Amino acid sequence: MKVRVAVNGFGTIGKRVAEAVSLQDDMEVIGVTKTKPDFEAKLAAKHYDLYVAIPENLSKFEKAEIEVKGTVEDLLQKADIVIDCSPNKVGAENKKLYYEKYGIKAIFQGGEKANVAEVSFNALANYEKAKGKRYVRVVSCNTTGLVRLIHTLKTNFKIGRVRATMLRRVVDPKEDKKGLVNGIMPDPVAIPSHHGPDVKTVLPDVDIVTTAFKLPTTLMHVHSLCIELKENVTVSDVVNVLEDEPRILLISEEDGFTSTAKIIEFAREVRKRYDLFENIVWRESIGIDGNDLFITQAIHQEAIVIPENVDAIRAMLEIAEKDESIEKTNTALGIPIKI
Ligand code: NAD
Repeated sequence: MKVRVAVNGFGTIGKRVAEAVSLQDDMEVIGVTKTKPDFEAKLAAKHYDLYVAIPENLSKFEKAEIEVKGTVEDLLQKADIVIDCSPNKVGAENKKLYYEKYGIKAIFQGGEKANVAEVSFNALANYEKAKGKRYVRVVSCNTTGLVRLIHTLKTNFKIGRVRATMLRRVVDPKEDKKGLVNGIMPDPVAIPSHHGPDVKTVLPDVDIVTTAFKLPTTLMHVHSLCIELKENVTVSDVVNVLEDEPRILLISEEDGFTSTAKIIEFAREVRKRYDLFENIVWRESIGIDGNDLFITQAIHQEAIVIPENVDAIRAMLEIAEKDESIEKTNTALGIPIKI
């Protein structure tokens, strides 16, 4: 029998998670929730059974003549697991209001505090730790990007301290209520940014300090990393290791990938919604100076965490081992893209 998955919150992450789950052969989406009867609710109802996230709003859906199957509480009673994709910190409220009440396993997103869950999760780095757990948090887009890269390097080479600067897209493309039109905002001004400590929730033994800046762009984040090497490693050693990891895609300036704008232009041709599930690493950025390894990568914030949510389901329900789950997820999502 397929795992019955509920998706609570159908925004940027929720709509992608729902589609990714429905592409797997061992799980199905039994319903998604919306808070209000807007165009997104109408689109959601075309593909999924729709439930109302805020029970008091049921009459608004009736008035708008959008068919709903009930409220979030009805949905949770039919599901084996819920993926909470509600806004930052709302997941913790949903846990108290509903998930504890119905004793359902729940996956939270990176906008929640780490203590919402028993484990902060990344499929490559700590799949085993999520096995059988009731509450798991998939770390944020920036943290997922950092963890994947650092874990891959640290599994293959002896590394020391990591220093990373995050150049962050200010908002997602759809967000029209906030933004940054003309400026660069250190976020925060004082070191460190929260990303380093967040990486440590998955990789506790990594010595990492991060800084972050918001930039007036919506397409992708860019990370500039400097990683101390504690053994002799060549650039081609690093390239080989990164090429072997399907969730990391090496691109080249020579091919015309001169900016995030060009990366997204490529993605528009090959993936629905230009979703890039992979870390996008510039081949030419991999350089070694003394003991310092430099790497620049771009992260599509809307898509990078999607495969991890799918793998978290299999780990928590113990229906597949790590490699099997990652392979299934990758195949269903078409990872990696062939250039
Ligand atoms: P979003 O605003 O696009 O979507 C959130 C959805 O939840 C909206 O449709 C909203 O109407 C709905 N919602 C509001 N209150 C709700 C409630 N009480 N119960 C259920 N649903 C409710 O936000 P998002 O970007 O999809 O972010 C969701 C989570 O994913 C956050 O924790 C965020 O930090 C994390 N995340 C976001 C990104 C990103 O770049 N967008 C990347 C990684 C992780």
